[in-house]
Amino acid sequence: MSGLRTEGLSFAYGDDAVLSEVDLVAEAGEVTAIVGPNGVGKTTLLRLLAGLLAPDRGQIQIGEQEVDRASRRRLARRIALAPQLEKPAWPLTVSQMVALGRAPHVGWWRSYSPADREVVERVLEQVGLSTLADRLITELSGGEYSRAVLARTLAQEPRVLLLDEPTAHLDLKHQAEVLRRLRQLAHEDGLTVVVTLHDLNQAATTADRVALLQSSSLRASGPPEEVLTREHLEPTYGVAVSVVPHPETGVPWIMPR
Ligand code: ADP
Repeated sequence: MSGLRTEGLSFAYGDDAVLSEVDLVAEAGEVTAIVGPNGVGKTTLLRLLAGLLAPDRGQIQIGEQEVDRASRRRLARRIALAPQLEKPAWPLTVSQMVALGRAPHVGWWRSYSPADREVVERVLEQVGLSTLADRLITELSGGEYSRAVLARTLAQEPRVLLLDEPTAHLDLKHQAEVLRRLRQLAHEDGLTVVVTLHDLNQAATTADRVALLQSSSLRASGPPEEVLTREHLEPTYGVAVSVVPHPETGVPWIMPR
C-alpha cells in the first residue's frame, strides 16, 4: 500500500515561511482533501508531496519510501501531480499530450506500445475527451484543457494521485464527474488521492479525510464532520458560517452567513 505521511514538514520561499511543522496523513483507499484560505500553502504542500520542492525541515514518506529529489525519478511511476495553473506550451493533439503521461513507463529503449495506446484511449474516455482526441490542445477551452491534464495524470497509472483544484474550471456536470472518479480511484482501485479544493462543500461530499490549513500549520485533520465545523472554519477563514447536516446526504453543508 502507498499511503502517504509527512512529519514536521516545514518550507519557506526565501524568508517567507509558508508551512510549519505539518504532520499530514493520507491513507491508501481514501480521498484526502486539503482545504484552507487562499495563499495558505495548499499548492506548496502538494508540490512538496510530489517531490518538486524540497522541504526545509521534516520528512515525507510514500509507503516505505522517503520522498526527496533523488528518489523523484524512481517515484515517477507511483506519484502523479495534476497541477492547476498549467498552460499548453506546444501545439500537441490531446492524445499526444495524454500519451506523455506514459513517459515514466516507456524507457528510451522502446516506443509506445499498443498497451500504452489503450491506456490513453481509456483515460480519454474516462474524462469525456474521446471525441476531442485529435484536437490541438491550444484550441481547447479552459475546462477541456484541465480534463486533458487529468487524463495525462491518470495515464501515468500512479498509486498516489495529487490534484490541485481539479474542479476549478469545470461546469457542474464535469465537477461532479471528476469528483466521482476520484472517489472511485480511491475506493475501488485503492489509490491514495490527495486533492486541494477551495469549495468546502465539495470537500465535504468527496473526502474521507479533510486537512485544514490555517496560517502555515495544520489546524485540524480527520473526517469531514470533525473538521468542517463552525469552531474550526470561522477563525480559519475569518467569516461567520452556518454548518448544518445536508438534508439529503447528512454531510456538513457550509454556507457563509
Ligand atoms: P494556496 O495554494 O493555499 O493558495 P500557495 O501554496 O500557492 O497557496 O502559496 C502560499 C504562499 O506562498 C503565498 O503567500 C504565495 O504568494 C507564496 N508563493 C507561492 N509560490 C511562490 C513562489 N514561487 N515564490 C515565492 N512565493 C510563493
